[in-house]
Amino acid sequence: ATAQIGVTGLAVMGRNLARNLARHGHRVAVHNRSPERTHSLVAEHGDEGTFVPSESLADFVASLERPRAVIVMVKAGGPTDAVIDELVPLLEAGDIVIDCGNAHFADTQRRETALRERGLHFVGTGVSGGEEGALLGPSIMPGGSEEAYRKLGPIFESIAAQVDGVPCCVHIGPGGAGHFVKMVHNGIEYADMQLIAEAYDLLRERLGATPAEIGDIFAEWNSGDLESFLIEITADVLRHVDDRTGKAFVDVVEDQAEQKGTGRWTVQSALDLGVPITGIAEATFARSLSGHPEQRAAAHRAFADTTGVTPAGDVDRDAFVEDVRRALYASKIVAYAQGFDQIKAGSEEYGWGVDPAALATIWRGGCIIRARFLNRIREAYDSDPDLPTLLVAPYFAEGVAQSVASWRRIVGYATQAGVPAPAFASSLAYFDGLRRDRLPAALIQGLRDNFGAHTYRRVDAEGSFHIQWAGDRKESPA
Ligand code: NDP
Repeated sequence: ATAQIGVTGLAVMGRNLARNLARHGHRVAVHNRSPERTHSLVAEHGDEGTFVPSESLADFVASLERPRAVIVMVKAGGPTDAVIDELVPLLEAGDIVIDCGNAHFADTQRRETALRERGLHFVGTGVSGGEEGALLGPSIMPGGSEEAYRKLGPIFESIAAQVDGVPCCVHIGPGGAGHFVKMVHNGIEYADMQLIAEAYDLLRERLGATPAEIGDIFAEWNSGDLESFLIEITADVLRHVDDRTGKAFVDVVEDQAEQKGTGRWTVQSALDLGVPITGIAEATFARSLSGHPEQRAAAHRAFADTTGVTPAGDVDRDAFVEDVRRALYASKIVAYAQGFDQIKAGSEEYGWGVDPAALATIWRGGCIIRARFLNRIREAYDSDPDLPTLLVAPYFAEGVAQSVASWRRIVGYATQAGVPAPAFASSLAYFDGLRRDRLPAALIQGLRDNFGAHTYRRVDAEGSFHIQWAGDRKESPA
């Protein structure tokens, strides 16, 4: 046995993770179901470090020092179970199986329980940063036991992205905690991208600006509060010109956004936990809406002349751009606030003890949602771990206060001009809902009591009450 850690599954992600490990001086056992991938990795990158290739899973396991640490980086779902089933009989008590694929956290919880019964550690690990991150430094979110992290931590921390000398990897918590936070990370990524897309659409409609000009606006925004990987690549994509036609690239791409499912999982989990992650939900549904071309064509035909749009008149270009920037910023704060609420709720429900400040710290680099802003989230939770919502942390409260008038103008404009801005609008509605003194939920309680005797509580007395609506209409304690 010569290797310190193994990777099975050498498609783009596994291959790059194995190379990253080797480049950092770890001796890496490598294996793939079809051996061609293993051979090509060693042939093309064998000089980057020490790879120990095997064609069979048994040889791969035998090449690992004990306790063995095996990273599984295969297609999520059934293939991951198939690989684990094949691996487990080859392992011994104390060995560690690490699933770095995009697993659903409930699958991770199930696998962890099953492997624990056999004396094995199972570490469901979220890895963000795509192909390039896996090679050059991803953000790594490992779950599983403390004991497993004691062995894995130093290895993962050495290959993770580093920000200000701090590795973007921390033990998130037991069980499925790592995959849960990775799921919410992806949900926030959905919201972030939808907000960016709405900002682009509004700028284009109102200013008649070209994609390249809007790309310049995004590039400028990237030097302020909005500085982030997604804003940076938005500028790049918007400025890109299609080789074949000479048109703006964004104009030759079919306008149907696809999804692999992590946004949907985030929304499903939020429904289970009762957390209103409206920004992420709108972003997920906006992708679904875009993916129904027949419905869209039918509605487009039916309402071509009946838009009810109010002409917008002259525009002050700079003022409008600044309004969109602020609306984007405030909506983005909402998306992160909601995502962190969901993480807090999940951590409480499943008993994980996730530290939001530590999580914000490891999302500052490597991952797709990396942003300057995450430093501020870390500070907010460092100074008050029990923060009721990120929106009230002083830095963000000030940002929202400075942006709210712009936010209202932009949502108002979008509504009147018929430009769909569901994430901007619902984020604003969420903000107004939270800050409101009284909500019409009181009426809903009255209706529920009227038709279903569901009872209600009063503002001025303890206990629950019910009115005999069909009888004497007198109130009685329930
Ligand atoms: P894929 O998801 O395309 O999976 C291909 C790999 O899975 C190949 O190594 C393939 O082996 C193996 N595989 C599939 N079925 C089986 C099976 N039944 N038994 C054994 N091996 C099997 O690869 P990616 O590298 O894109 O992703 C790997 C994992 O990382 C996935 O879970 C993905 O969701 C996750 N991920 C991906 C990111 C990305 O940006 N792509 C980012 C973060 C996570 P073979 O070569 O023999 O077919």
